[in-house]
Amino acid sequence: MPKHLISTNDLSINDINEILDEAISYKNAIPNNTLENKLITTIFFENSTRTLSSFEIAVKRLGGKVVRLDISKSSTLKGETIADTAANINAMNTDAIIIRHQSAGAGNYLAKYVTCPIINGGDGAHAHPTQALLDTLTMKLHFKNLEGKKIAIVGDIVNSRVATSGIDIFSRLGMEVILVAPPHFQSISNKLRQTTNIKEIIDEVDVIMSLRTQTERHNNQIYGSLKDYASRYCITKDLIGNRNIIILHPGPVHRNIDIDDEMLKDSRCKVLSQVSNGVYIRMAILNRLINQ
Ligand code: ASP
Repeated sequence: MPKHLISTNDLSINDINEILDEAISYKNAIPNNTLENKLITTIFFENSTRTLSSFEIAVKRLGGKVVRLDISKSSTLKGETIADTAANINAMNTDAIIIRHQSAGAGNYLAKYVTCPIINGGDGAHAHPTQALLDTLTMKLHFKNLEGKKIAIVGDIVNSRVATSGIDIFSRLGMEVILVAPPHFQSISNKLRQTTNIKEIIDEVDVIMSLRTQTERHNNQIYGSLKDYASRYCITKDLIGNRNIIILHPGPVHRNIDIDDEMLKDSRCKVLSQVSNGVYIRMAILNRLINQ
C-alpha cells in the first residue's frame, strides 16, 4: 500500500483487490478494533454529507477517535496556509489526516508537510479515490466479476473528480467505460468512447453512473438550464424500462434532473447501497494506511 491515498493511480490492482476484499469482510462480519488508540483528523474545506460522515463512522466502527477541524473557526480565515494547518495538526500526533479541498492537488501538496498518511476526500475536479472504490465495490457485490461489463458515465464529466477516479479503476478492472454528455461536459483529453445521445448506448450497458452538474466549478454557465440538461440526460423510469441495468450516483442527487423520483425508488438504483459500502471501503483504507 502507498503511504498516502491521493489518487487511484497510487493503488496497484493488487491494492485495489485487497481493499475490496477487506471491505467485504467488514460488510459480512462484526468489525474489529484495529484503530483503537488511533486518532484521525478530518479537514474539509468543501461541503460534504457522505464522505465526511462515512469516514468518521468508519474510524469509530474500528474503535478509533476523530477530531474534526472546523474550518469556519480555524486560522485559515486568519491567513494560515493549508500546509501550515496540516503541519500543525501533524505536530499534535494525529495518525492520519483526511482532507477535502476545492483545489486540485491539495492532498499531494500537503503530503510534503506531514509524517502521517494523507487521505484525499476529494480535491477540485481532480480525484476522489475512495468514491471510485466504493462504486467498484457496489458493482462487484452485484455482478461478482466486472471484467467485460459496460458502464456509461452520464453528465458533467469534465468537472467530475468522481468520473476521473472511476474511469481509472473501472478500466483497469477490465470494464468498458462510455462517456455520455453534452459537448460542453465532455472531457476532450479522453480516449474513451463518447456520445451525446444516451439512447445510443442504452441497450448495451450494464451500469449507468449519473453525475451531478458541478455548478460550483463552472466559471460561467455554458448551458441553457438544468431543466434543458434533464430533458436529455435525466435517468428516468421510462428511459430504463425493463432493462437489466443498475444505476449509480455519487450524491448529492439533483432529483428529477440527474435521476427521476420513480427511478430513485427502483431496486435497480443503488445510491443508498453505495453510501453503505462507502463506510466499509473507508474502514479498509484507514486500517491499511494506518496499520501497515
Ligand atoms: N459527492 C461527490 C464529490 O464530492 C459528487 C458531487 O459532489 O457531485 O465529488
